[in-house]
Amino acid sequence: VKAQGQHGYRFFTASMHERARARRGIEIALRQALPRHELSLHYQPKVDAHSGRVMGAEALLRWHANGHELYQPDQFIPVAEDSGLILPIGAWVLRRACRQARAWQQLGYAIPISVNVSPLQFQHADFYSWLDDVLNESGLDAELLELELTERTVMSGGDATTSLLRRIKQRGVLLSLDDFGTGYCSLSYLKHFPIDALKIDRVFVHDLTSDRDTATITSAIIAMARSLGKVVIAEGVETHEQSAFLRHAGCTQLQGFLFGAPMPAARFEQRLAAVD
Ligand code: C2E
Ligand code: CA
Ligand code: CA
Ligand code: CA
Repeated sequence: VKAQGQHGYRFFTASMHERARARRGIEIALRQALPRHELSLHYQPKVDAHSGRVMGAEALLRWHANGHELYQPDQFIPVAEDSGLILPIGAWVLRRACRQARAWQQLGYAIPISVNVSPLQFQHADFYSWLDDVLNESGLDAELLELELTERTVMSGGDATTSLLRRIKQRGVLLSLDDFGTGYCSLSYLKHFPIDALKIDRVFVHDLTSDRDTATITSAIIAMARSLGKVVIAEGVETHEQSAFLRHAGCTQLQGFLFGAPMPAARFEQRLAAVD
């Protein structure tokens, strides 16, 4: 028994060790990513559930070096959050996305750009002034910027959350609750916080057409959110079957591989031009 226990212990520490080392490796490389211009934004279309028209774009961070993708956001964003690197990186993302949206606005494509905000950014005392600076500097209409906040992000703001969200709304920026349905008391947020839109998490969309309970819950969430006057976006839509279900259930917009994967700005622009 003792030998087994020892073995188990060794195994445990070895894997923890490896994980910690991998994270440190990512962190060291990530520190260089901004100055080395290895980061870029890809844009994924959000389309109108009925017409299929592009109604917006979500900016998603990519990390490339020597032409190949180094790590996925799900690998490096947590490291960026733990190390605090998400602050300079997040500021860069916001500036880059606003400049891009302004450029598209000037070309006649006035679509809102959605930017993901991490808890560390949101809870920072200077978050609002960064946001205001970036809007002023880019010249982008505030209505063309949307912040995607997860429940975790909103919770991280503490007591100041409601007043911060109100200030952001007063500035004209749109607010969206991301990964909706995966957290705790999500529906109550819709009542308390000035949220414009909610994004139904892709785990619901994934199981929609194979699991009756998921279909029922998803329909109920959409109906409730709509009756509260919210825009409802489904993410991770991959099949026509999912698309049809969500459209009939009352979803406003759809996002997913079925309508386009995240793509570089130039390709997104071609897409905007093609439907003109
Ligand atoms: P998210 O905000 O929930 O973004 C949606 C993710 O789903 C993206 O993954 C997107 O590429 C992926 N996706 C889109 N359509 C489909 C689909 O039809 N099927 C499937 N299976 N996946 C789809 P990505 O780009 O790897 O980003 C992962 C997460 O990393 C994001 O989840 C977000 O939480 C975070 N992230 C990405 N960029 C940023 C950023 O600039 N700042 C912050 N704070 N977080 C970011
Ligand atoms: Ca998002
Ligand atoms: Ca999401
Ligand atoms: Ca997510």
